[in-house]
Amino acid sequence: MPQRYRGRFAPSPTGPLHFGSLVSALASWLDARAHGGAWLVRMEDIDGPRTVPGAADAIFATLGRFGFHADEPPEWQSRRVDLYRAALDRLIASGHVYPCGCTRKEIADSQLHAHRRNTTLIYPGTCRNGLHGKPARAWRLRVPDDARSGAGNPALIRFDDRWQGPQQQNLATEVGDFVLLRADGQWAYQLAVVVDDAEQHITHVVRGADLLDSTARQIWLQQCLGAPTPAYLHVPVVTNAQGEKLSKQTGARALDPARPLEALTAAARHLGLALHDPAPATLEAFQADAIDAWKRRLTQLPAA
Ligand code: GLU
Repeated sequence: MPQRYRGRFAPSPTGPLHFGSLVSALASWLDARAHGGAWLVRMEDIDGPRTVPGAADAIFATLGRFGFHADEPPEWQSRRVDLYRAALDRLIASGHVYPCGCTRKEIADSQLHAHRRNTTLIYPGTCRNGLHGKPARAWRLRVPDDARSGAGNPALIRFDDRWQGPQQQNLATEVGDFVLLRADGQWAYQLAVVVDDAEQHITHVVRGADLLDSTARQIWLQQCLGAPTPAYLHVPVVTNAQGEKLSKQTGARALDPARPLEALTAAARHLGLALHDPAPATLEAFQADAIDAWKRRLTQLPAA
């Protein structure tokens, strides 16, 4: 029996909703509606230092003004830490994670720092076989070793993105063992998102393409926890005039809650949706038109 579609929008309350997050909200909502599925909202507020007081309430208020109403009460990651602890305990018991005593500086200074990818350091595996007398700082998930020959390299994670097409990432050479519980006691996004998507029975993840790079890690973590892998669809990110991803840090403006239709039609345009009515008079008219346009858009994707 195919499972009923369950999708979600998972904003981080680091500031008000901006045009980039509206695009993700709209795409996830449209995909759920186009499939006759459920659409949930999860507030990803576990990153204490980045969370801005009042931002979550402002996001919920804006979502309501823009016509996005979740089918179930919202979840808050800050109220779900027992689930993350339980998942980490299972991974400790199964030997998938190990304590790590390395500081960022030690990792940066290690001989592997030539393998730095973008700004991410690839962890050289120093604490894989013990802490060497150092105190434990963080917990890391072991990724499979790279097997250069043979078709079935366990380090190579492949998946078909519904928008972007076939993807692959070598966890050993491109990512390395990654942190699930940080030295400052904060739960890593990768663990929380995988535990929540599994526990909430999310079948379809629709989000911005900036998270494409995290997806292989999440699939590996699902495999370690025996959780199912949802279908993934990553929509193109919105960039500013300098080509940077729109975010609070790159100067994204908050959405104007008094003018939802203008921003929604612009978000639909960003997604390449061919609306019949580019100037709808009501949210309901926009929504009906956009759901039809989304269904047509899905059939035109390279991955379709
Ligand atoms: N909270 C993440 C963000 O705002 C999104 C997580 C996800 O959709 O998986 O970037």
